[in-house]
Amino acid sequence: MKRFLKQHLFPSEDPLKLLRHNRGIIILMYHSVHPPVNKVDYKYSISSEDFIEHVRILKDNTNIISTKDILSNKNISKDKLNVAITFDDGYKNNYSIASKKLAEGDIPFTIFLTTYFMKRRFNSFLDWNQIIKMKESMDVIFGSHSVNHWNLTMLDQNELVYELSNSKRMIEDKLNDKIDLLAYPGGGFNDNVIEIAKEVGYSAAFKDRIEKGNENNNQFHIGRISIDQSNSAINSFIGTLNRVEKFTKIKK
Ligand SMILES: [Zn+2]
Repeated sequence: MKRFLKQHLFPSEDPLKLLRHNRGIIILMYHSVHPPVNKVDYKYSISSEDFIEHVRILKDNTNIISTKDILSNKNISKDKLNVAITFDDGYKNNYSIASKKLAEGDIPFTIFLTTYFMKRRFNSFLDWNQIIKMKESMDVIFGSHSVNHWNLTMLDQNELVYELSNSKRMIEDKLNDKIDLLAYPGGGFNDNVIEIAKEVGYSAAFKDRIEKGNENNNQFHIGRISIDQSNSAINSFIGTLNRVEKFTKIKK
């Protein structure tokens, strides 16, 4: 209703102007970014043309920060919308397409890896050489997205510990770095998942959605908004940034 009134009372309000006046923090969740020539019938794969345009819009109108900035409450602008960019699953095109565009502008981003996909050398997923190259040359943070991408709430305790600790350890060994961020596969989590995630050494975890109210800013309930084929067209993307619930700080 509110949106209806807004649109009708202020029909000429420029969406980019609204974006420039926006405040707070929002985290975007991307998956795959495919070349424009390929029409991809997968909701979570958007075209590189749209992605390049998203990056331009964010650069010109918002303050782009990293997930760690949000967690440590650093580099957060009070006069702009703060946006962090994340990718789930570890698609190969994150390296071949998206990361190159982001690196051009020195833009920070985070990739959550599902380690079984790397281990099996599946064709559409990143390999460790690409991951290491990104780590060495870009402003990227890697996190875990479990081993097998199963719904963590459906597992028994041993499986859960395995999914969370084994993926973490594997990325740590390959990158020789501490990994302490987690994204819940399919967004599935509960109190038990959170407890085990803390026990095996994660410091924060990200969801695949945004809730109403205050449920987006707890360290293990960090809300993200999916950018996929349903909202990647430019007007829809800007509308999404203007519309979704923001938060201002992570609660420790
Ligand atoms: Zn996923």
